[in-house]
Amino acid sequence: MAKVIVRNVSKSYEKHVLGPCSFTVEEGNTLLVMGPSGSGKSTLLKACAGLLKVEGEILLEDSKRVCVVFDESKCLNHLSVQDNISLGMKKEGYSEEEIRQRVYDVAERVHLSEHLLKRPDECSLGQRQRIALARALVRDFDILLMDEPFTGLDILLRRQMLSWLKQMQKEKGFTCMMVTHDHRDAKILSDQVLILNEGHVEMLDTYEQCLNHPVNEFVGAFLK
Ligand code: ADP
Ligand code: MG
Repeated sequence: MAKVIVRNVSKSYEKHVLGPCSFTVEEGNTLLVMGPSGSGKSTLLKACAGLLKVEGEILLEDSKRVCVVFDESKCLNHLSVQDNISLGMKKEGYSEEEIRQRVYDVAERVHLSEHLLKRPDECSLGQRQRIALARALVRDFDILLMDEPFTGLDILLRRQMLSWLKQMQKEKGFTCMMVTHDHRDAKILSDQVLILNEGHVEMLDTYEQCLNHPVNEFVGAFLK
């Protein structure tokens, strides 16, 4: 099974924005990345996804397929919602029947069943966000990297998605890193929480530990 190993990773543009940070996400575990806006969360996740060149070393060990969900994930407006979700799956070796079944299942999970024949530009922003999520989750993967995937979803759907993810992780055992600004995600989903502040790792521990025994004032105030 796969794990994520991050060693001395840092990133600078004109100014320093991340690191150095080092940590491991063990097989089947979920690390939630939290921190104020601009603290480097997306930078860290993009680096792990191989979308950004950084200093240091990132290993996705024993991984066959990494699945990424970023807010920039684009929908193709000349294809139906269902074709957006299944885009490329045939080439990846999935059979017609398997694609049909998987798209049907995942659409039900993200509440898109009624919209499969529409085009993305006929969908709301929240629906397009779920198309991107469905497109990622419809495939097999062993590492899942997500940047605020549930932002903008209503509370009920968000809760359903979280419990679905958790159940799926129990069944399939994938390793997950997710950026969130919502404490409830951390409480429900995380094995570990990494708290960033201006690119610096303030604390890396369980959610309970971060909440009840913050290492400094920043962490205490942030999780309050
Ligand atoms: P977060 O996701 O926590 O809100 P980001 O990782 O997106 O933060 O950004 C961290 C910092 O890096 C911010 O100060 C942001 O302005 C800066 N930054 C991100 N991308 C670029 C870029 N392409 N060029 C210059 N600065 C960037
Ligand atoms: Mg971000």
